[in-house]
Amino acid sequence: MTDKMTPEQRHKCMSHIRSKATKPELKVRQWLWNHGYRYRLNVKSVPGKPDIVMRPYRTAIFVNGCFWHGHGVMADGRCMMEDVVSSKCCKIPSTNREFWVNKIHRNQERDKRNYDLLQENGWQVIVIWECQLTNKKLEQTMREVELLLNENMLALHRKPTPIPFHTEEEPLPMAAEGGTMYGEKPKHIEVVAAALHDSEGRIFATQRGYGEWKDYWELPGGKIEAGETAEAALHREISEELAAEIEIGSFIQTVEWDYPKFHLTMHVFWCRLVSGAPTLKEHEAARWLAANELESVDWLPADFALLPCLKTMMQQRPK
Ligand SMILES: [Zn+2]
Repeated sequence: MTDKMTPEQRHKCMSHIRSKATKPELKVRQWLWNHGYRYRLNVKSVPGKPDIVMRPYRTAIFVNGCFWHGHGVMADGRCMMEDVVSSKCCKIPSTNREFWVNKIHRNQERDKRNYDLLQENGWQVIVIWECQLTNKKLEQTMREVELLLNENMLALHRKPTPIPFHTEEEPLPMAAEGGTMYGEKPKHIEVVAAALHDSEGRIFATQRGYGEWKDYWELPGGKIEAGETAEAALHREISEELAAEIEIGSFIQTVEWDYPKFHLTMHVFWCRLVSGAPTLKEHEAARWLAANELESVDWLPADFALLPCLKTMMQQRPK
């Protein structure tokens, strides 16, 4: 079959697909908005950076991804490593297991600190899990959220009492639902990424400014187009994203990662700049990170999976 679309048509079509892929947080916002609720996003003056702040209800809403926040996974410090088991919606990779358990554990601790801090300051906290927002469950979940909001409003006019949010644990297999939930996304995406290093051996990390994984950090790079070699794709992507030219050095690793909606294959290369200072064309922020700073930003899962290998490279510092 030949491709009859003009580039303009294809672009329009692709951006339509992207806008249909709804981030869990966006689903919650849309529902609230459509039901007449008004809110603010990521308000800095509220502790713990909640995703959604509803000041009149003195309520903070967190929309948590099941993997990173360890939904259903007991990973607190009292557990032995072997007692920590995957849940239906948080599958702990078996490779580098200890590394993942520790990461999820740290995220859970940070979540708990945030919730405690908010409650100490008189805020109600509502936690909504990604798996509670499937098409099937969205309406029920949001009705329960609405109930809590109304209770919180009433509570404000009485004495404040913390109201925990619970929905029945009936985790759904996300992978099976992925196709129907998020529209026609490609099942397999192959990308190439640059571990761009400077003369001090630091790595250039960029923060994504759009889409489902907005605000997460990643190595610059992008999709390999049909008929393109990985190296050619990397030169092209870096020139488009950062207006810079690079020299591609050693191959580091291929990361295979199952996102809920697609499988990602990411080839990562050790690279250095040959001309131009990186200029952010697509990303909202960037940082040069030393080996000991690598975990100070929230990486996309596949990029995070690369860190052990990347750290080793940074310590060896090949050309
Ligand atoms: Zn879940």
